Amino acid sequence: MTIRPKLDVEIDAINSRPWKGIVWHHSASPDGQTRDWDGIVKYHTSYRVDYETVTPEEFERRLKAGQGNVFQKPWKAVGYHGGTEFVSGQPVFSWGRSLAMIGAHAGVKDASNQFNEEYIGFCSIGDFDKAPPNPLLWDFNLRLTRTFMDAFRIPASHVIGHYEVFDKLGVPRQKTCPGRCWDMGLFRSEL
Ligand SMILES: [Zn+2]
Repeated sequence: MTIRPKLDVEIDAINSRPWKGIVWHHSASPDGQTRDWDGIVKYHTSYRVDYETVTPEEFERRLKAGQGNVFQKPWKAVGYHGGTEFVSGQPVFSWGRSLAMIGAHAGVKDASNQFNEEYIGFCSIGDFDKAPPNPLLWDFNLRLTRTFMDAFRIPASHVIGHYEVFDKLGVPRQKTCPGRCWDMGLFRSEL
């Protein structure tokens, strides 16, 4: 018998968008002992050039000089609605942007923003291209997903991995997210 970690998530469904589904992501980075979520929040709310954070001055300078390909200004909030990770050996959930806001996690440039508008975005910290989520985190993510499915009456078929967004839109997959070792079919079957 595994002891399932307790989830204590209060969801204000009344003041949320009418979410139709959930998209899972991974951070594609190692999960440290401490809270890595704050780093993701900081990253999304910073100036970025080619996916590296820069100072506002450096951003302006490089933009003017054309040094870089992808220029991103700080977002209002982290792109995901929440994230999970291990902190001191226990899985924890951290809230991200408000559930009243559309996400910034599943847009497909020149194709569709549908999954940002209709699906909640969660990010589990770790690189699941390399290995599957630890069973404790897997179980925690299942419990979290179920909690949100209940709150918004989301069917398991609407719980997808980021790469499945591309399949649903009929465009080539641009990501392996949430990782080649995260079996979304299995995840759905356990919901
Ligand atoms: Zn993703």
